[in-house]
Amino acid sequence: MNIIIYGLIFIIGTLFGSFFTLAVYRIPLGEDILYKHSFCPNCKAKLTFTDLIPVVSYIALGGKCSHCGEKIRIRYLLLEVLSGVVFLLVALLFDVNVMIVNTKMVIYFLFYILYISSLFIIAGIDKENITIQRSLLVFALILSLCYMTYVYILNNSVIYTYIIYLVCMILLLIADAFSLKKYLQKSYTVGILALSLYIMIFSGPTVSYLTIILTLIIIGIRMIIIDIKERKKKKITTIARDDIKMPIGFYLCVSNILLILICNFLNV
Ligand SMILES: [Zn+2]
Repeated sequence: MNIIIYGLIFIIGTLFGSFFTLAVYRIPLGEDILYKHSFCPNCKAKLTFTDLIPVVSYIALGGKCSHCGEKIRIRYLLLEVLSGVVFLLVALLFDVNVMIVNTKMVIYFLFYILYISSLFIIAGIDKENITIQRSLLVFALILSLCYMTYVYILNNSVIYTYIIYLVCMILLLIADAFSLKKYLQKSYTVGILALSLYIMIFSGPTVSYLTIILTLIIIGIRMIIIDIKERKKKKITTIARDDIKMPIGFYLCVSNILLILICNFLNV
């Protein structure tokens, strides 16, 4: 019986995966993500119901659009599978079980699914555009508020640190909306700070610190790789360090999802 539930959670994960692709593409353009029909970016043909079945449609159509035959990037398929796997792992983590219905666990599971989904979308947009989408940070804020209220009702304590994080997040977003924009480069820094606070609210101290450390390591490695490439081209570092654009938010989100799974499975 549990196998059916876990299979279902995997399928829902792949559906979310295909939604992430759509959200990453549409949110920066300010387009509707819920009601507008999906279409092929090449021939603009509306996708039929069968075209929209994750993974299966990709394999059945041989990775091509059923209307114009244009190749569909394999990363869409990989993202769908990956998201299915992550959903499955989160379900295992919270020990979702049909035999013992535990409301508390199910609610925690749903919070984490929403949290990880938002990280997927924030990461995708940051990777494509080097920007932390403000509308998603507002979503992050609302989700954090709900989560903290729930934790407070359950435990009646230990949320004071998180209230500080939340207040900082609100102040950052308000400041960003008004004046900081002029002083900080496209206010990417504010986006990264707010994202870090969001991660700290949901991950707890250990995973948060490890996330930041892993992100710094990734940035360091990226720097070295860029440096080596530049040297090979013999353009001996004429580019200023500040001009190197790195999707820091993407690294933060990926590190965090990885570490939440690893640390919780190892019980760190
Ligand atoms: Zn097409």
